[in-house]
Amino acid sequence: MMQQKKYIVSARFLVNPETAVIEQGGLLYSSGRIIAVDSLTALKRSFPGVEIAHYDDSAIVPLLVNAHTHLELTEFPLWAEQKGYQVDDPVGFIDWILKLIQVKSKLDQEKYHKAITKGIEQSLMAGTGVVGDILAHHSVRSAYEGVSLGGVVFLETLGQDPAMIRRLKKGLYKALEEPFSSDAVIGLSPHSPYTISNYYLRHVFDLCRRRGLRCCTHIAESEEELKFIKYSRGAIAERFYPAINWHAFVPAAAGMRPVAYLDQQGGLFPENLLVHGVHLNDADIDLLARRRMSLALCPRSNARLKVGRAPAARLRNAGVRLALGTDSLASNDSLSVWDEMSFAATWFAGEIDAPTIFAMATQQGADALGLGEEYGSLSPGKRAGFQIIKCSDIGIGELYEYFCSGIGQNDIMQIYRDGRPHKSGV
Ligand SMILES: [Zn+2]
Repeated sequence: MMQQKKYIVSARFLVNPETAVIEQGGLLYSSGRIIAVDSLTALKRSFPGVEIAHYDDSAIVPLLVNAHTHLELTEFPLWAEQKGYQVDDPVGFIDWILKLIQVKSKLDQEKYHKAITKGIEQSLMAGTGVVGDILAHHSVRSAYEGVSLGGVVFLETLGQDPAMIRRLKKGLYKALEEPFSSDAVIGLSPHSPYTISNYYLRHVFDLCRRRGLRCCTHIAESEEELKFIKYSRGAIAERFYPAINWHAFVPAAAGMRPVAYLDQQGGLFPENLLVHGVHLNDADIDLLARRRMSLALCPRSNARLKVGRAPAARLRNAGVRLALGTDSLASNDSLSVWDEMSFAATWFAGEIDAPTIFAMATQQGADALGLGEEYGSLSPGKRAGFQIIKCSDIGIGELYEYFCSGIGQNDIMQIYRDGRPHKSGV
């Protein structure tokens, strides 16, 4: 059998989450898989004669994980502008939802397809290797075919009207049967406890567990959501439901907080990645930890929509696995996880440190999506996906802070996907 060609890539630093930085480090890979990670000296000794690509004044870093986004909304700013909205228009959560509905109304599939293609491109350029992407328009997942972007594509579903749910269920089962040849896998997302009936919510959770599908649910994002779940009152009942002609389907008050409600519906299982978790009390956090849940934090989106700040330190101390997501360009300025890390460092200052943020954006994020064996760190057996980050005049002790200081496009010297260099990222 012919031996597959081996390659070494080395740099001044090799940086992995939750382990010591290797100075003058490198990795050896073949056929798109990492074989060894060590100092360059040790690699040269063990694998003499292998071609070496060395990067001075740079660090080799894993591709990043954007645990929560909606790439089909990448052109949202453009659509909003076309409908006469200003970027800074709505202030609160409900105003934002109403704007989202208005801007999205009467858009055709082609527009979503174009938007998701751009979103994938922007993600690749920014050094992202894995996404947790929510799709309301299930057919546009074809944009993932033939693209080197791993992750979970969550088909979103929501509804309160039983007749509508019957139709949606049919569509969902059909979508699950359709072939999908991509580096990403299919999952399901029952949108949130305030947009889906308890019956349908339980059904989707059950379906995920029976079929071994990853799941994703928005939870405890706003004060309005708490009020709606507990009392069936507030702006969601009075403004959002009427705006989408759901006024006849306001559910009975659950009399409890969203996390307890989700638990009651069978939604607290580790394969269900929760998103936002801004409004959590100690009992909620304890329950999430006991159920071994992962939570994707979206600090820039939460700040933009003024919903509050997630209790990051309490979550981390309780043992809830934390990941990082950009959410969509309907509530953020960029799809770069580097930008999200930089914002998170300020937003969560004193709560979580730079090495933790780096881990959230790499291994923890990959684990949260169930893909930690393939992605998230530079380790033997994993995919040879990494990026070369320029770091002139940065000391070994300053690397994580530097990575949380706003790494831009110009700092990314090279991106490797499955062992192949792509200067443009794509
Ligand atoms: Zn979202």
